[in-house]
Amino acid sequence: MKRTIENVLAEGKSLLKDANIRTWALDGEILLSHILSFSRVQLFTHSRDEISEEQEKAYKELIYKRLKGAPTQYLTNEQEFMSLPFYVDSSVLIPRQDTEVLVETALDFINKEKEFQVLDLCTGSGCIGISIAYYAPLCRVIGIDISEDALKVAEHNAKLNKVNDRVHFIKSNLFEEVPTNLKGTIDMIVSNPPYIPTEEIKELMKEVSAYEPSIALDGGKDGLDFYRLIVRDGKEYLKSGGILLFEIGYNQGDDVVNLLKSQGFSDATIKKDLAGLNRVVFGIKE
Ligand code: GLN
Repeated sequence: MKRTIENVLAEGKSLLKDANIRTWALDGEILLSHILSFSRVQLFTHSRDEISEEQEKAYKELIYKRLKGAPTQYLTNEQEFMSLPFYVDSSVLIPRQDTEVLVETALDFINKEKEFQVLDLCTGSGCIGISIAYYAPLCRVIGIDISEDALKVAEHNAKLNKVNDRVHFIKSNLFEEVPTNLKGTIDMIVSNPPYIPTEEIKELMKEVSAYEPSIALDGGKDGLDFYRLIVRDGKEYLKSGGILLFEIGYNQGDDVVNLLKSQGFSDATIKKDLAGLNRVVFGIKE
């Protein structure tokens, strides 16, 4: 019997729904549009078209991986962030919509008429630094990560978004390999570092704890290890008047504000995300 897009999509969705996957309808559609190289709308405008056996088989394979818990974004190798396309695989954290408020706050501080030097620490997929460079065309960004595999992904994403002339990467454990002649020259340091307390990683959703890189999540015993190191060394690299911005966990705002104050940063401020949770902390180097 002829198998149509409509039939196969309904089956995929119902398997996901029966497994209590909250985003069953969306995931079913995203995975099928990925296999067919369609937009999601085309699934509906072509719903009566026949689907080949190979395509159906490839779709089912993705559905079964999703049923086991693999995030949809690792199956399609795509995630949009700040309305830009990003390639992702299991060597990087999947960009979160919650992180967009960090980028928007950073962009508010950038004078778009002037050259501006940004460091993005723990860059991962590169989503933060690359979107800053995209929306602030005179900005230069250095993305830093300890993971070689993550940097390959970030370099690919800089090319994908055509900012590779202004975004460069350094493989480094935080500031260890960052040239010391950059000290005192940086306008902005931005970072979404690993910030989950080690003991709490296993309590995260399985989709996160079993699939996303633990190196991108683990912030040490109290989750604050990276903030301490980035504040301590970051202030050497920032210009006077330069700004340090972090994404934080919802309950880390006061700790990170105090850390900035204790290291001589002024105007330490917490900003909330769209869900009303504390999400960003920034401060100015005196
Ligand atoms: N900077 C990347 C992001 O925000 C990676 C963050 C990380 O690995 N902790 O998605």
